[in-house]
Amino acid sequence: MSEYINVAETFGCDVFNDAVMQARLPKKVYKELKKTMEEGKELTMEIADVIAHEMKEWAIEKGATHYSHWFQPLTGVTAEKHDAFITAPMENGKVLMSFSGKELIKGEPDASSFPSGGLRATFEARGYTAWDCTSPAFVRHDSAGGTLCIPTAFCSYTGEALDQKTPLLRSMEALNVQALRLIRLFGNTTSKKVIPSVGAEQEYFLIDRDKWLQRKDLTYTGRTLFGAMPPKGQEMDDHYLGTIRQRVSAYMKEVNEECWKLGVTAKTQHNEVAPAQHELAPIYAPANIAADQNQIMMRIMKRVATRHGMRCLLHEKPFAGLNGSGKHNNWSLTTDDGINLLEPGRNPHENIQFLLVLTCILKAVDTHADLLRESAADVGNDHRLGGQEAPPAIISVFLGEQLEDVLEQLISTGTATHSIKGRKLETGVKTLPDFMKDATDRNRTSPFAFTGNKFEFRMVGSRDSISECNVVLNTITAEVFKEACDRLEAAEDFQMGVHNLIKEYAIQHQRIVFNGNGYAAEWEAEAQRRGLPNLKSMVDAIPALTTEKAVKLFETFGVFTKAELESRAEIQYDLYAKAINIEARTMIDIATKQIIPAVIKYTTVLAQSINTVKAAGVNEVSVQTDLLKKTSKLLKNTNQAMARLAKLLEKIKELPEGEARARYCRDKIVPAMAALRQPVDELEMIVDKEMWPMPSYGDLIFEV
Ligand code: ADP
Ligand code: MG
Repeated sequence: MSEYINVAETFGCDVFNDAVMQARLPKKVYKELKKTMEEGKELTMEIADVIAHEMKEWAIEKGATHYSHWFQPLTGVTAEKHDAFITAPMENGKVLMSFSGKELIKGEPDASSFPSGGLRATFEARGYTAWDCTSPAFVRHDSAGGTLCIPTAFCSYTGEALDQKTPLLRSMEALNVQALRLIRLFGNTTSKKVIPSVGAEQEYFLIDRDKWLQRKDLTYTGRTLFGAMPPKGQEMDDHYLGTIRQRVSAYMKEVNEECWKLGVTAKTQHNEVAPAQHELAPIYAPANIAADQNQIMMRIMKRVATRHGMRCLLHEKPFAGLNGSGKHNNWSLTTDDGINLLEPGRNPHENIQFLLVLTCILKAVDTHADLLRESAADVGNDHRLGGQEAPPAIISVFLGEQLEDVLEQLISTGTATHSIKGRKLETGVKTLPDFMKDATDRNRTSPFAFTGNKFEFRMVGSRDSISECNVVLNTITAEVFKEACDRLEAAEDFQMGVHNLIKEYAIQHQRIVFNGNGYAAEWEAEAQRRGLPNLKSMVDAIPALTTEKAVKLFETFGVFTKAELESRAEIQYDLYAKAINIEARTMIDIATKQIIPAVIKYTTVLAQSINTVKAAGVNEVSVQTDLLKKTSKLLKNTNQAMARLAKLLEKIKELPEGEARARYCRDKIVPAMAALRQPVDELEMIVDKEMWPMPSYGDLIFEV
């Protein structure tokens, strides 16, 4: 490991980025490629061949022996298949290193082993990967050597999306079309593109790898399924932004360096609320690049941890009773020439555009709150959302006092005619404050908060891809922009039309705005009064994908077909049921093979002690006897709870796959798991620590 690196020099050194392309590609080819990147123009094979050749030469210089189409199927992790650059041996027995345009643009992995949620019926097993030239290729170095990774989208042969990226690219395009219409109406003739910008703050835990290996629950499921709280948890708030331990600092340093080499802008790192919990945030980038970079970052975080004798836990809730981990998805709309549509402007005119964009987003989020909630649905996230640590499962929008006040003025100032000329709106708009970020004004309990010049969607789970929520944000915003543009283009008086729209949207969707405490029980009741959905679990959230409203939305903008949505719902149910099944089986395994034997040993020791003490002529053995009774009772409870869980698990097979199994798991298995955990955690509190078969919470989180 190097002592010192020159960040400016090493940044992006393993990336086939713009600078490399400009330097290495013939001018004409470079121009054609840029056109494709900017306008989505198709590349000719001739051009693709030249790019592929240069990319290969560059990659080989960087030590690459293989190339790989890198994609994100619906398994939740990235997938890749590696091919060496070599060609068949020539007559002289040597090989050439080759890589064609065709190989760059299109790959053909067998799709049959990836989740397709029923789509498989409509296509043959084959799928293909297509180069996403807007996200740069890179050379990754690991024990497999150097691999040229080419970011791709993954589709079935009939064009159905089988991955996270395809819908994301489609949604970005849909949003671009409508957002351009909107800014043109406001007189912008120069911007050529509107891009959703995303910065995802990643939370994670770091624990010692040897201890991790001793916890079957962590190794099989990513979270602890048993574990009593240590005497000290996170109540002292002494970890958040606290001094970073040396071992962790060394880890962070290496993570940063690896990120930087691959062009990932790792920027901010700090300790989080729970002991052993940390966060890393990059600088924002176009949504598809941000999604790719987040995947790259998560992989680096895991690999570097192993090298440092640690394990990086990306699960949403590794430890009950401590904060879980999420991923804050910061989202804004930026033009290619650097204008942020969520930046309140300097003059009233710009402010009106800002207010329209803002109220359109309010309408979008209110109309599709269920979809946005669904986009963050994940098995692990069920433990987090609504748990007094992360936003509740109810979607609402936090605007901050000043903006909420502006909206209220808009709503209360009579008709729009009056409001345009009326003093109040004029003042309201003119005095729109410069929304400089104000740390004291943060509402940490809000799932969707306006933070100065961007929205921060805080529901996403730490393991999850950020694609889903951005697909939803982009598409629902495109829908309202379209409606607004349709109306404004037809309006006789544009100014009046805009004011009417802002007011209408603000009034109709005011219910989604909530600036109070999202953790409070009153909010749940209030939200119910307002008619806002409260989808508590992943299983409750999944149906949002296939409502008539959702199908219409996604089909209108070419983001998902009905079949694709149905397949995604199917995959989600399946993932849920499978994950719960694995957790339940792991619990039974640990209880049978580790906990019960350990407790029996402990009771034997107690019984022996009673006999030995008595044999020595002392009759005072009440402590041992009490403990023995208590332990034996808990042991019995454990065994009963385990038998019950095992019996319930047996029944799953009788149910049809998909929704039925998922519901059964949530309603029957999850409570039975909790019932098994309870006596075990109680036992952990009384059994001799020397005899407890695995590291405790305290060992895991305080001894990193
Ligand atoms: P905050 O303090 O509000 O959390 P930070 O400056 O720490 O804001 O940024 C948090 C994340 O938001 C970072 O990943 C950052 O790059 C990203 N971010 C900042 N501005 C924008 C923007 N306009 N659009 C999208 N993401 C942004
Ligand atoms: Mg933040």
